[in-house]
Amino acid sequence: MDINKIREDFPILKEKAYGKPLVYFDNAATTQKPIQVINTINEYNSRFNANIHRGVHYLSDLTTNAFEKARKTVQAFINAKSDKEIIFTSGTTASINLVAFSFGEKFVKQGDEIIVSEMEHHSNIVPWQLLCERKKAVLKVIPVTEAGELEYERIPELISEKTKLIAVTHVSNALGTVNDIRRIIALAKKHEIPVLIDGAQSAQHIKIDVQELDCDFYVFSGHKIYGPTGTGVLYGKENLLEEMVPWQGGGEMIRSVSFEKTTFNDLPFKFEAGTPNFVGAIGLGAAIDYISAIGLKEIANYENTLLEYASLQVGSFEEARFYGTAKHKASVLSFLFMGLNPYDVGTILDKLGIAVRTGTHCAEPLMRKFKITGTVRASFSFYNTKEEIDVFVEGLKKVRRLFG
Ligand code: PMP
Repeated sequence: MDINKIREDFPILKEKAYGKPLVYFDNAATTQKPIQVINTINEYNSRFNANIHRGVHYLSDLTTNAFEKARKTVQAFINAKSDKEIIFTSGTTASINLVAFSFGEKFVKQGDEIIVSEMEHHSNIVPWQLLCERKKAVLKVIPVTEAGELEYERIPELISEKTKLIAVTHVSNALGTVNDIRRIIALAKKHEIPVLIDGAQSAQHIKIDVQELDCDFYVFSGHKIYGPTGTGVLYGKENLLEEMVPWQGGGEMIRSVSFEKTTFNDLPFKFEAGTPNFVGAIGLGAAIDYISAIGLKEIANYENTLLEYASLQVGSFEEARFYGTAKHKASVLSFLFMGLNPYDVGTILDKLGIAVRTGTHCAEPLMRKFKITGTVRASFSFYNTKEEIDVFVEGLKKVRRLFG
């Protein structure tokens, strides 16, 4: 990988913060966009904009084709069996809410159980809590170890004949832990329980093959994989999506409407009510083309070297305490420094041009488990460098000087 060449593709990396070169280590929150994605969006907005699926005219036809081509790009990216299984949404949160409602309405009744884990993002907790409240169902939780790994051996005792779904994250946004989702899926399959994988932090790091994984749902956000904000994907197995009730009603999701009886469109349109973010979806296709051309294996290898380097450098401070020390991790470094409030550390780093995230990372139950109010989180992308990590380490030295 030619990092200098790659960095040239990301205009924002040339920006300054407070006059200092920007060091962007907040990639788990959102990733920057390569010029290829920016140009695609600009091109569609400036030359081809027209609403899709409904027009007979030249522009509408062109944009419809590009939108459906983007769907096929997503299908190939995660190796779904059919493009009917790819629903465009506004992001991971929307995808999970869609499943919680549509699957929940169809399959979950009073007394049933949903299993999540203690390390979930709020997006993979609250929609299930809302469902459980609606249906008087029960939410069960897979605990997490001190190292930030799932307690897999506890899962069998959580499963019962009332378990309707297991929803777990592939990679923890707060700790970087890569979960052994194959193990969870295999266990769930033994009991014929569907599994939803929250891929918000995995699609950009790990090659996904939904057929090989045999998960029932896989969701991710466009903005975290170098694509536009307001885009996302719900993959679902066709037979399940067919059975699920529609989520939102409106145009596009119907076949015919009358006051007596409305019938619904085929997949995937049944779950795409209203005008979708079609320019965004086309931009997401461009982002997938971009990272696929580099190669997810190459991306993961390089990001791992960054993680190792950063872990070593930050680990050399005796004032640093890491959270998330799992064997298998993605490029996320979560820590506390000198016992300081993470916000103080983040603020000083910020003034040096270094963007990290501080706080609970939308994972309050996990923070509560560790009895902390949050961490400092540096998350690395393939456009980051060891030199930037050196700047970050200098920043921590400054924190030490100021608070020491
Ligand atoms: N799940 C995980 C693991 C995440 O990291 C995030 C984003 N931080 C989400 C869900 C929600 O994603 P979005 O805000 O893009 O809908």
